[in-house]
Amino acid sequence: HAKAQGRHRLQFFEPGINDHISQRLKMEQALRLALSNRELSLHYQPQYSLRTGALTGFEALLRWHSAELGYVGPDRFIPLAEETGLIAPIGEWVLRSACEQGARWRAEGMEVAIAVNVSACQFRHDLPDLVASALESTGLPAGLLVIEVTETALMQDLEQTAAMLLQLRALGVRIALDDFGTGYSSLAYLKRLPLDKLKLDRAFIQSLPDDSDDTAIVRAMLDVARHLGLETVAEGIETPQQQAFLDGVGCAEGQGYLYARPMPAEQATDFMREAQIPAY
Ligand code: C2E
Ligand code: MG
Ligand code: MG
Ligand code: MG
Repeated sequence: HAKAQGRHRLQFFEPGINDHISQRLKMEQALRLALSNRELSLHYQPQYSLRTGALTGFEALLRWHSAELGYVGPDRFIPLAEETGLIAPIGEWVLRSACEQGARWRAEGMEVAIAVNVSACQFRHDLPDLVASALESTGLPAGLLVIEVTETALMQDLEQTAAMLLQLRALGVRIALDDFGTGYSSLAYLKRLPLDKLKLDRAFIQSLPDDSDDTAIVRAMLDVARHLGLETVAEGIETPQQQAFLDGVGCAEGQGYLYARPMPAEQATDFMREAQIPAY
């Protein structure tokens, strides 16, 4: 019993906390070996032009099937990878694998853009070099690569971030601002950062077209994008009504379960042969 062991001992009283810590340690140890054990893979989710229905690209999404822990979702292990620094080697692997896949599809006559998520902590001085080397070694044309970054990643050091984005763009790579509207950035940042695309967060898409707040917010975000000359993608489209609304208010592209869930590369290859979105 805790009291019997003295007042001044630091101790966790709730068994749940100790469990939580050992769980985390276990996951960290497993994640350290995930790359060399080949437990990581990429799934691909298609993106479409809402106006024409043409498939325009795929977002690469990381998956981890751990021998020890089973399937662990990115929302659980990406934060851990970021805290432990493991995101550096993992992120590099993601970048190379996604570029490799994009180049393979292109060689097979299926030219689609590939979007890769990049964490705040990968946003260091050597990112442009890593990207350049991934493009060079795989032969993927820079114009087919989109780097997705979140607002929080960009907020950390605006001057340095802007300089790095310029370097990336000089390579010919496009930059998308992911989860737009969920961070704390001011709209003023949008004009100071060299961006190409805004990805409207799923949170604003969910309740379309009935919720009058979300319809107003989405219209306003699309207005801002239009005035700044930015492309737009809506994420998390699940219904034909959401698709119709977004197309109607001028959102260029869409992605979501309505079209397809993220899937392994082989499945995405088959999927591409019938690249039309459902009629509405
Ligand atoms: P994200 O970049 O915003 O990716 C979109 C997430 O929404 C994905 O979750 C995708 O599966 C999910 N999604 C797509 N369409 C729908 C829909 O219609 N309905 C719903 N409910 N969800 C939908 P996922 O794959 O679990 O990834 C979660 C997050 O983990 C990503 O959010 C991204 O922030 C991060 N992540 C994934 N892969 C990587 C990676 O390779 N590197 C980094 N740094 N982060 C990654
Ligand atoms: Mg993303
Ligand atoms: Mg997103
Ligand atoms: Mg997200």
